[in-house]
Amino acid sequence: MIKAMGQETFPKRLAVDCLWLRRTLDTKRTEDPFLMLCTHIVRDGHDCIGPFLENIETSCQLWEPNERLASQRAKADKQSAPASETNTTST
Ligand code: SF4
Repeated sequence: MIKAMGQETFPKRLAVDCLWLRRTLDTKRTEDPFLMLCTHIVRDGHDCIGPFLENIETSCQLWEPNERLASQRAKADKQSAPASETNTTST
């Protein structure tokens, strides 16, 4: 996660966390059988532009968070929301 001063906390845009990424194997490719395919309508069936390096964000403008990351974001947003006011007055 990135946290800049005065800004909200948000996870990095890693290609591995993209909603449109489909990881599969092609056993015909003996040297590198691992495929990272894009399923976005614009790039459908082409290789994902990546990169798939730890903590290096993608520059892909089509990137969207996958379900797992979206869930993490929702939890983080919920935790960072201001606490609701509680009635502490006594008589
Ligand atoms: S090319 Fe872009 S939209 Fe497609 S899987 Fe990779 S990051 Fe996602």
